[in-house]
Amino acid sequence: MDRSHMDKELQQDLQSRREANLYRSRKTLDTAQGPEVVIDGKKYLAFCNNDYLGLASHPDVVASLKKATTDYGVGGGASHLVIGHSRAHHQLEEELAEFTGRDRVLLFSNGYMANLGVISALLNKHDAVFQDRLNHASLLDAGLLSGARFQRYLHNDVDNLTTRLERTEARRRLIVTDGVFSMDGDVAPLPELAQLAKQKNAWLMVDDAHGFGCLGKMGGGVAEYFDLPQDDLPVLVGTLGKAFGTAGAFVAGSEALIETLIQFARTYIYTTSMPPAVAAATRTSLKLLRDESWRRDHLQDLVQYFRKGCEQLGLQLMDSASPIQPIMVGSASNAMALSDSLAQQGILVTAIRPPTVPGGTSRLRITFSAAHSKEHVDQLLTALERTVSPLQEEVA
Ligand code: PMP
Repeated sequence: MDRSHMDKELQQDLQSRREANLYRSRKTLDTAQGPEVVIDGKKYLAFCNNDYLGLASHPDVVASLKKATTDYGVGGGASHLVIGHSRAHHQLEEELAEFTGRDRVLLFSNGYMANLGVISALLNKHDAVFQDRLNHASLLDAGLLSGARFQRYLHNDVDNLTTRLERTEARRRLIVTDGVFSMDGDVAPLPELAQLAKQKNAWLMVDDAHGFGCLGKMGGGVAEYFDLPQDDLPVLVGTLGKAFGTAGAFVAGSEALIETLIQFARTYIYTTSMPPAVAAATRTSLKLLRDESWRRDHLQDLVQYFRKGCEQLGLQLMDSASPIQPIMVGSASNAMALSDSLAQQGILVTAIRPPTVPGGTSRLRITFSAAHSKEHVDQLLTALERTVSPLQEEVA
């Protein structure tokens, strides 16, 4: 097949995606992450990053990164097991272990790779994996990659999961769930899942990418929110690119779990370590995340203020108390039109469409950060009143 033939075939696929209103495109940011950003010379108020605590551009985090770059250089240089594991990585692992109350922590270059690495290291074709149907793509891909028998249970439905567990025999059975669901903002019923895992002799893994730093008084995420003992949540994944404002991910658990990952997790073994300066910057983020609880309080105030404002406008929100506050609009074309119209008013909110979410559940995914103010929320509400309220009335 020559190249022009290949391109023609690819163009056809791209065109079908465009026609279905599912085409994705990027915007190029000329500023740091924050409530106000500049794109192509135009200022916007942004409600779409995951910088929940406003740490991505925090001066102390930036200063730590700069200093550590002087000490360590830029690149990780090699994989952790060759010579890429620096003192900064090691210290961050130890501090995260202490913070999460786990025996040990292992750093990964990002959350996608952490999830692929963990599930494929723990399971093979003799095993079974049970995933919430709204789990993040990286968890679903990881389950498929592992070769284990793969089942998706109904969202947060412990009865449905129980039935599936009862009819599945396997060497190992792993239940996997997001802690806070990335596109819905609701929280997994972890105490019930942990209880079920114990009863049925299954293992439980939680990806708390969106809860860690935001939930719990100290920011310990869903584990702290539900006050779950370590034994009830043996595999805990957190990411560093969201509330921490840096990049990378970690897995927290027992000595045996972490040693297993070091020996068998291919996405740990065969990749260059994250830049050591990022690990050093994350140590500063961790300190801020733990000590500055006002960031979580302020974030929660903003979320409640927004929800009250929406109620007054008659806008339907989903059942979420997290900084992820989606407005369901149904079709992909509506979601795109609303997002475009908000952008024209200087407000950035991303339209989330299939396959990221199930068909017919396209939505505007609004996310808040501790860097936002109530005035920012007022501006968002004014724009939503103009743009989304008429549509919801039309649909109702
Ligand atoms: N898990 C969840 C629930 C996520 O939302 C994401 C990213 N959006 C990831 C994992 C992947 O993390 P990373 O961006 O560090 O690859």
